[in-house]
Amino acid sequence: MTPAERADLVLRDKRYVWHPYTPMEAYEKEGRPLVIQRARGVRLEDADGRSLIDGNASWWTSLLGHNHPRLVRALTEQAGEFCHVALGGITHAPAVDLAEALCARAPAGLSHVFYSDNGSTAVEAAIKLCVQYFHQNGAPKKASCLALEHAFHGETLGVTSLGDVAAFSAPFRKFGTFVQHLPSPADGAQAAIDALERVLRDQGDSIAALVLEPLVQGAGGMRFYGPEYLRAARELTLEHDVLLVLDEVFTGFGRTGTFWAADAAGISPDVLCLAKGLSGGILPFAATLTTDRVYAGFLGEPARAFHYGHTYCGNPLGARVALEVLRVYGDEQIIELAEAKATRLAAAFARFGEMRGVTRVRSRGMCAALELESAGGGGYLDRAGWQVYDLALERGAYVRPLGNVIYLAPALNIPDADLDELLAILGESLEVVLAEK
Ligand SMILES: *Cc1c(COP(=O)(O)O)cnc(C)c1O
Repeated sequence: MTPAERADLVLRDKRYVWHPYTPMEAYEKEGRPLVIQRARGVRLEDADGRSLIDGNASWWTSLLGHNHPRLVRALTEQAGEFCHVALGGITHAPAVDLAEALCARAPAGLSHVFYSDNGSTAVEAAIKLCVQYFHQNGAPKKASCLALEHAFHGETLGVTSLGDVAAFSAPFRKFGTFVQHLPSPADGAQAAIDALERVLRDQGDSIAALVLEPLVQGAGGMRFYGPEYLRAARELTLEHDVLLVLDEVFTGFGRTGTFWAADAAGISPDVLCLAKGLSGGILPFAATLTTDRVYAGFLGEPARAFHYGHTYCGNPLGARVALEVLRVYGDEQIIELAEAKATRLAAAFARFGEMRGVTRVRSRGMCAALELESAGGGGYLDRAGWQVYDLALERGAYVRPLGNVIYLAPALNIPDADLDELLAILGESLEVVLAEK
């Protein structure tokens, strides 16, 4: 692409494209978007031919790197057969093979797969399943949900209400009357367990589900917590007959070191939500898994159905790619080989933590985060991280922050040399920004 072609593209972009999470007035005036024309492995190549390391696997999706040859082959082979058919009254091998493989891989007891398109719909389907389950099985009072402060579960109105990131959910509070937010274990595990115990004891008979991002609250600011809360949540929800929904849209597929974050706690949820890494960053695809018990609650007379679906449910391209993703994890020992990389990542962040102006360093598996001390008050709208973003970009890495939280969540199979370069770029960028303070 010539510089003139690039300039023309950006001009037309600013005229027609409304970007997500982006203040468009500032963007129109001074936005300097990356123009990507190719991506391979952990490298993004922009219109000027510059190579950039993708520090967050493109919004946490391409966990096996961009354009993994096996995934692209699976996609094109399936495209040569058929790209889409309705899943109403029709089935096909990709949907069946993937459902079987997911159930074999999932935590014990998850034995039925409901397909949708993205992380938001995976969680939306989960809460509807739970509420409808109780509605038609003798406990219609159990119709509300519990979620955590600082949670993020996506963008439909239902899951926006489950979320608690002010920038995303504040205008829509009115829709959220079915949700109660509880203290997050990231702010203290025992207090969070006590609060959960109290609300279940007092109101358990009106609650259908507890929805959690296990181990890491992602978009809420990479807030980490330990497995003990998950174990307590599992015990308490069983005791009060509340369904436990784990949203592993971010943590699933090895992000935190085990294949599922639930594995670290040794628990099985009643419902498991998957997207992002499920289709390896190739295309939008999602799944909601549940148990025989919940499934059976939709059987019997008079005929009952989960009256919910999306046009692209079980899309054959997505299903075929996701099946290949699972096979690549086995064949290329993705989880096993990521362990040493995670150690490198954690060590580098521990060093960053010694810099003046850096606080609250944490890491788990292939995810590490730190906070910049900031006058901006913290949170998603804080601008403190964006200076680091600009400097890293100049040096060859894409490290989009969450407000004043700087984090890395690269592909799990990032080559060691690229990981070291990414860490060096981030370290240098932090040094420059902090020296100016
Ligand atoms: C990204 C994310 C979602 C929403 O997924 P989309 O595909 O963007 O709709 C839901 N839950 C968690 C934990 C996420 O990280």
